[in-house]
Amino acid sequence: MKLQLLPSTFDASGCCSQRQHLSCFVIDDCLAIDAGSLAMAATEIQKSQIRDVILTHAHLDHIAGLPLFIDDLFVGLDEPVRVYATKEVITVLEKNVFNWEIYPKFSELKNKRSAVMQFVQIEIETEIFTKHLRIKPVKVNHEVQTVGFLISDDNSKIAVTGDTTETDRFWEMVNAEEPPKAILVECAFPDELEDLAFASHHLTPSRLRRELKKLKHTNCPVYVINMKPMYRGQIVKQIENLKIKNLHILKVGKIYEW
Ligand SMILES: [Zn+2]
Repeated sequence: MKLQLLPSTFDASGCCSQRQHLSCFVIDDCLAIDAGSLAMAATEIQKSQIRDVILTHAHLDHIAGLPLFIDDLFVGLDEPVRVYATKEVITVLEKNVFNWEIYPKFSELKNKRSAVMQFVQIEIETEIFTKHLRIKPVKVNHEVQTVGFLISDDNSKIAVTGDTTETDRFWEMVNAEEPPKAILVECAFPDELEDLAFASHHLTPSRLRRELKKLKHTNCPVYVINMKPMYRGQIVKQIENLKIKNLHILKVGKIYEW
């Protein structure tokens, strides 16, 4: 299984930077988990193959690229882009984004050959099958309804928390099965901003350390995602100071194979 966190910012020379403003993971060049930078950073091959987008929640940094992605592809689509999300997230997107005021209601539009966007409602802990992948949504603990995912193909499995603070069910589900090849866990704020992390339902390095005590697969590689870009340096330093040997920072733009 191939995974890439698409870039969302550029350094002074125009190259992809490690600052992650937006969230969009592409799996095997054909499935997107969240769509933060999907329109802006997907390669031509990814744009030609991604027709399934699955959302953790409706916060802007996770959906910003979705309306633009559909817009880019509009004329050339032979099938709709399927957007998988919980009922609550679909309702929020239809009411607040695809409402003709912010952007067109793509779920009602067609090009000459096909509908261009189709919402597919997902249920918590009910597997979705798309292409060669199996995806199980698991409820996590954010200030709006949010799911993480366990994603498997015939050879590998990975787990992604999405945005969350302390949560139990995600770890129970991970612990109940064979160890995944990788677990991607958020850590949005540094320890100094504990109050903000608490209020916005995110993790800090200290909270992450406590979360990882819930993981029974102690050798499983864990990768940190979703660090707020303005605090990235502080968070990385605090994570390194935890001295947890299987804990890494997921590199933006790098293609991982598991
Ligand atoms: Zn969020």
